[in-house]
Amino acid sequence: MSIEKISLVCLFSFVFGSYFPVGGQSGSGRNQLPAQVRYFPSQEDLMIIKHSIRCFLKNQKGIYRDKMLFNIRRVLDKYGISKYNFAAFSVHRSVGPGLSFIQGRHEISDRFCPGCGSDLYMVDSPVRILSILEGIHDKVIYGCACGEIFFQFEEK
Ligand SMILES: [Zn+2]
Repeated sequence: MSIEKISLVCLFSFVFGSYFPVGGQSGSGRNQLPAQVRYFPSQEDLMIIKHSIRCFLKNQKGIYRDKMLFNIRRVLDKYGISKYNFAAFSVHRSVGPGLSFIQGRHEISDRFCPGCGSDLYMVDSPVRILSILEGIHDKVIYGCACGEIFFQFEEK
């Protein structure tokens, strides 16, 4: 092997060695990475987030909410990112209490789900609060059993 080839191999193992730490279960290699290296979440991990949210919105039980927030946080931590944008919403790592939160990108100005028209304030409404971001006006993020995620600014 020529000198050039050997140095090329070294360069590759150096580059890929730092990008793909070996011997790590998910997460264990994270701390060894330089801070500026960012992975792009895999399709599989993005599906885990979408599926967890869909499960909670369909079932609307506390255990699915916990699982959803846990799964979002686990994926964000795995890639060392604090947020990820989907087309209709974004997911964020919590700084304060809680694991993660979801932000809607579609603002509504009435009391109806833009997906299926359900009334937010009906007794048996299929709409659930996903997150509340406190501010001068609280930004309340809703998710509906139909899959729609949206938000509204509300008086305290
Ligand atoms: Zn709906």
